[in-house]
Amino acid sequence: MAPSATTETPKPAEHKGEQDVDLTAQAIEHKLSDIAKLKQNGSPKELDASKLTYEYTKSPRPVPASIEAACAGAETICTDHMITVAWDAETGWATPELRPYGPLSLMPTASVLHYATECFEGLKVYRGVDGRLRLFRPYCNAQRMLTSAIRISLPAFEPKELEKLIVALMSVDGPKWLPRDAPPNSYLYLRPTMIGTQAQLGVQAPKQALLFITAGYLPRLDSVVGGMRLHTSPEDMVRAWVGGFGFAKVGANYGPSLQATLEAKSRGFHQVLWLYGSEGYCTEAGASNFFVMLKSRETGQLQLITAPLDDRLILDGVTRRSIVQLARERLAGEVEVVERRYTIAEVIEAHAEGRLVEAFAAGTAYFVAPVSLVHHRGQDIPFPMESAAGGKYALQIKSWISDIMYGREDHAWGLVVPEKE
Ligand SMILES: *Cc1c(COP(=O)(O)O)cnc(C)c1O
Repeated sequence: MAPSATTETPKPAEHKGEQDVDLTAQAIEHKLSDIAKLKQNGSPKELDASKLTYEYTKSPRPVPASIEAACAGAETICTDHMITVAWDAETGWATPELRPYGPLSLMPTASVLHYATECFEGLKVYRGVDGRLRLFRPYCNAQRMLTSAIRISLPAFEPKELEKLIVALMSVDGPKWLPRDAPPNSYLYLRPTMIGTQAQLGVQAPKQALLFITAGYLPRLDSVVGGMRLHTSPEDMVRAWVGGFGFAKVGANYGPSLQATLEAKSRGFHQVLWLYGSEGYCTEAGASNFFVMLKSRETGQLQLITAPLDDRLILDGVTRRSIVQLARERLAGEVEVVERRYTIAEVIEAHAEGRLVEAFAAGTAYFVAPVSLVHHRGQDIPFPMESAAGGKYALQIKSWISDIMYGREDHAWGLVVPEKE
């Protein structure tokens, strides 16, 4: 038998009867009201970025010559510093610390190592054409991290405070690691993470956790010459399921997907297009959202179609959300944006009838990556590509977003980072 985790008797649920209706949504609401309560009485402490302490590195490391050089090895090269914040159920969030980048110390019995109590975020910081550093909608990442944390019973926090910590790390490491004279289109990749650290075996919500933020290099993945080639997921595997946690950026979603990805790569494809259910609904491409543009059979209308969020199967990507918003705003009248379930059979049919226009994957890592082929059960479905770089709409949308990221367009989605020189 597994060791008994706790001798506490479970307390009856506060809102009995409601719990079995929509546990995930309720958990989020409860946690948010907890934050509000914390603010009132101050104990245990809430996450407070204004308390950040600074311990600068005594052994600064050299900055790689380029993203390509930085990513040539087998280890992610990170900047000089990281931010860590410990949490304890009794005392709440400890003082956030900016300190030299380096190993963490964990007991072998730490919760995360056994029960996957881990969630993370991924976002980039961009050196703009005006010399300023920008984050792209970081508050969306902070909010999503809260949703992910709650899904795996890690502690809640005020998303604004996480956003401030991300900004603080870049204020310190940005000037050196993403200098003003960096080549155009340069970026760093930020990885906020939270893990359960309590050193006690037994399946239970951890009473200790660690939030940390690192910044480092990630290879450029958005310009696959000739487009990305996707292989649909194996018949006996799904990435996520209704009632599961596909909507949360938790580590537990990714390890089990690697087998199919490895197999697809060995067959010459870049990523897996994850299908769901016997109907074969298209969900996500690797760890990015997936868009298909086609002409409606009934009306001839151009439609940009992507999987919906309401069944919580897919991740609510910041890139996806931005594409949906921009396309609705700027392509109104020309393209209809549709968030709905659609099957691989529909895509095959559109191909057969000459109605397929484009497809692309979208996410922070892949940015907007045109897809030129989907392989499904022995059949190739080619997608038109106007040029080797991609289709017209993918490239149009990509340049709109990139203009915001690199400060070519002044937009509320670009958050300027004040730099410590
Ligand atoms: C991170 C991620 C995405 C992309 O989200 P962005 O916020 O656009 O980076 C999409 N799908 C999955 C499964 C992811 O993990």
